Amino acid sequence: MRVRLGGDYGASSFKPAGFLDNELRFLPNMEVPSRAAEGPAVGLEVIFSAFERFLDESNISPSEVESVTLGLAGVLSAPGVLGANPNFGNEAWSRYELAEAIEQEALVRWSRPLTANLLHDGAALAVYEAHRRGDAFQNLLAITSGTGLGGGLAMRKPGAAGMPLVLRGASGRGMEIGHQAARVDLFLECNPILAGADPPECACGRGHCVELFGSRALLKWGLPAVLNRVANHALSQVPAPEAVGRVRDFAESGDSVCLDLFRAQAFGVGMAAANLNSVACADTIVVDGGLVNTTPELREEVLERIKAGFGLASGVFSHLDPEMTIELASDRDDRGTACGAALYAGYC
Ligand SMILES: [Zn+2]
Repeated sequence: MRVRLGGDYGASSFKPAGFLDNELRFLPNMEVPSRAAEGPAVGLEVIFSAFERFLDESNISPSEVESVTLGLAGVLSAPGVLGANPNFGNEAWSRYELAEAIEQEALVRWSRPLTANLLHDGAALAVYEAHRRGDAFQNLLAITSGTGLGGGLAMRKPGAAGMPLVLRGASGRGMEIGHQAARVDLFLECNPILAGADPPECACGRGHCVELFGSRALLKWGLPAVLNRVANHALSQVPAPEAVGRVRDFAESGDSVCLDLFRAQAFGVGMAAANLNSVACADTIVVDGGLVNTTPELREEVLERIKAGFGLASGVFSHLDPEMTIELASDRDDRGTACGAALYAGYC
């Protein structure tokens, strides 16, 4: 059997998946805390323990594994090497040679020489969504809205089968989409809950980036701004990081403040998609991540606001793509990145 392992390693969780011969395998109960803040040694232990459990439950010996590919949030500085500031809450990850560390660990634990790859999480998601659609797209733009904004672009010639081309960039940080200029005036005008708020500038030094509006970063600055004006909101009594983490629960239970913030984040994703699509001219845009991992009712609202943000921020370009589809990733268990990473190795 040809066994290619993939995984989604993020700041908070790790999810393994596998491409076994030609069968994609994902075990939803396998999500574990990534313990990224404890550094690379602990992270590697988490990754390998989860893969070993995945192999065990699939009745596969580690000696059959050919490759390991991880989808990761954040910037790579070179193929197989993390960037200077990965969003993992521990300095030891900075410029860490993770692919090589995985290959060495596999030799030690599994006596197995294999190939390890790192992929941007958005690119892995694009691979998965492209795979699910077969040849029903030419250019597919995938966006993940979570702690930050991730993106991927898969391209296929009409009628061509097999692996689509995925934009990776020379160092692997292609489609690092969060740091493009946002239409701040449009955003504040279309999201009255934040009217009069003063958005912070992005830590990257480029001003007001789309990530501040289309990811959880919006909640970090937007929630305190709103709570300052609303009397007696339940989240006013909750410490800041925890309050941000509870916005989705409150929105799902109908709280109007949190619902409007959630809608605003979706609008921000639409603005980011408009920027990207003025270049990519995709026929399919798919959005995944924490934003869409919610109730069916809220998913409908999220999709509607993404489309609103996309249409308004596209300006005249919105008339140029009449056949274009915008949709949410279908699975509630947020598995696209892990499966895409496994598939990517299978196609290489
Ligand atoms: Zn930025």
